[in-house]
Amino acid sequence: MSEKFCPSCHKELKLREAGYPMGSALLKADRVHVDIYECPECHGIRLYAAESDMVTCPKCGSLHSKKEKCAICAMNEAIDEASK
Ligand SMILES: [Zn+2]
Ligand SMILES: [Zn+2]
Repeated sequence: MSEKFCPSCHKELKLREAGYPMGSALLKADRVHVDIYECPECHGIRLYAAESDMVTCPKCGSLHSKKEKCAICAMNEAIDEASK
């Protein structure tokens, strides 16, 4: 994983949150995970597509953060429950 630098202060950005699920309330099946970095100098927040903590679901093959359950499988389970 390469280091990130603030484009204005050229300070090394600090990782605040890895694999943060963006838009999870709206886009259940198609989440975007980002790593949130903060500049210690200007406290600017920068977002990068998450490079870490991503795992491939063994059931459905979708990528998701290993910090949370697979959204696709959770949805499929909910549909299965509803159709019983
Ligand atoms: Zn900065
Ligand atoms: Zn899955």
